[in-house]
Amino acid sequence: MERLGSGHLAGIAAGRLPDAQYEVNFADLHPRLDKHEALVAADRCYFCYDAPCMTACPTAIDIPLFIRQISTGNPLGSAKTIFDQNILGGMCARVCPAETLCEQACVRNTAEDRPVEIGKLQRYATDIAMEADRQFYSRANPTGKTVAVVGAGPAGLAAAHRLAMHGHEVTILEAREKSGGLNEYGIATYKAVDDFAQREVDYVTAIGGITIQHGQALGRELTLADLTARFDAVFLGMGLQGVNGLGIEGEDLTGVEDAVDFIAALRQAKDKSVLPIGRRVVVLGGGMTAIDAAIQAKLLGAEEVTICYRRGKENMNASGYEQDLAAANGVIIRHWLAPKKIIGKDGAVAGIEVEYTAMTDGRLAGTGETGILAADQIFKAIGQSFSASGLGALQFEKGKIVVDGEGRTSMNGVWAGGDCVDVGEDLTVSAVAQGRDAAESINRVLAAQTQPAFAVA
Ligand SMILES: Cc1cc2nc3c(=O)[nH]c(=O)nc-3n(C[C@H](O)[C@H](O)[C@H](O)COP(=O)(O)OP(=O)(O)OC[C@H]3O[C@@H](n4cnc5c(N)ncnc54)[C@H](O)[C@@H]3O)c2cc1C
Ligand code: SF4
Repeated sequence: MERLGSGHLAGIAAGRLPDAQYEVNFADLHPRLDKHEALVAADRCYFCYDAPCMTACPTAIDIPLFIRQISTGNPLGSAKTIFDQNILGGMCARVCPAETLCEQACVRNTAEDRPVEIGKLQRYATDIAMEADRQFYSRANPTGKTVAVVGAGPAGLAAAHRLAMHGHEVTILEAREKSGGLNEYGIATYKAVDDFAQREVDYVTAIGGITIQHGQALGRELTLADLTARFDAVFLGMGLQGVNGLGIEGEDLTGVEDAVDFIAALRQAKDKSVLPIGRRVVVLGGGMTAIDAAIQAKLLGAEEVTICYRRGKENMNASGYEQDLAAANGVIIRHWLAPKKIIGKDGAVAGIEVEYTAMTDGRLAGTGETGILAADQIFKAIGQSFSASGLGALQFEKGKIVVDGEGRTSMNGVWAGGDCVDVGEDLTVSAVAQGRDAAESINRVLAAQTQPAFAVA
């Protein structure tokens, strides 16, 4: 059945689609390759000696090796090659914008050819290993050292797994009810179906030595001083919890919502037919969040979904692939439009006034020309910000925690990684790389503390 939407109900309403259509619309975007497809896809790899794809992957997976292992009928060996560098390789295979990372760097990515499908091959191997519950790692002997990891998102989980491997005792302190961070609450539904985020948390924590305490928020139940006193080291992987506001008239009207809240509600809803959606939806922003909110609004049955972005197509943070996916789902993307005022009727959204923008003397500015788009629901997706109290002792830059190349913060014994730090792109794979690398740095410090003292003859 084809994915489709329908908008016969006015305003914001649930149940726009026939019941069976929700399942079709939110089905797996890229189902796993079968064995034959995987062998054919793997056979296209040139196994380059200098593998530019590997350099382009933030977790530096040995891509030619894992593809070779698939070619030789060894998907479990292939999965181990992936997990050695990226224990969340299953989720990354689903969500990485590979077209701007490894696949962009592939030497076959030319005008006449197309890149090797690295992401799909990665999913093939990791799915086989995870479905067989094949664990490749065991814990080293307990070191007696304890580490607090704040946040059970990709950064925190990757750090926890690596620390547990080294024999440390890890306690993850997580503010929300479930683990996984944005893998559970943010990634688009059709990218991570069948409760994959929770299955991956179980797979990662199966190594042992990791305890997760939910409902524990730094700045609410816990202070940084508590943690540094109770644990030998602390890793902060709290992501970005704040959402940027528009600062325009009408922002408080019924029907104006944060896109991340809408996406989280969608991810948590077992029955998508109960989710209310507008007939005419406007999404403000140009990143992955904007695209995901817009596509999912359409899949819930919105009749008309328009993304307004204040700059040009080439400036959008969402990749070309994501933009094409939105277009293929019937989303209209309009560039060079900035929100000016949200128009209300009886306390609810009725439309949005937008102003055309242009680059003038190198700066973005309104042109003075305005127009009105009819809308009954508006999603704000103009970026997230770091918000956590009680971290005053740390150094911040542009609202994010400052870290060095190993993930060390300005405070002794405290490391950080993922979206909350001021390096790298805000991507799942970057968070995994930073969590893993910070764990190695923590391990080096803790191992030096546990070295047996020199015996003086
Ligand atoms: C809507 C959306 C869609 C996205 N889609 C993609 C995609 O398709 N591909 C991609 O690569 N990236 C995507 N991203 C980005 C990606 O999800 C993030 O870069 C990644 O999740 C960052 O991982 P993290 O561990 O740093 O933070 P998070 O995933 O945000 O995890 C942080 C965890 O810390 C917890 N926490 C927060 N504050 C506290 C506190 N004070 N105390 C205790 N715990 C706390 C949170 O509850 C959460 O579990 C998307 C982001 C959004 C918002
Ligand atoms: S983790 Fe992402 S960037 Fe790295 S090889 Fe896999 S799909 Fe490519």
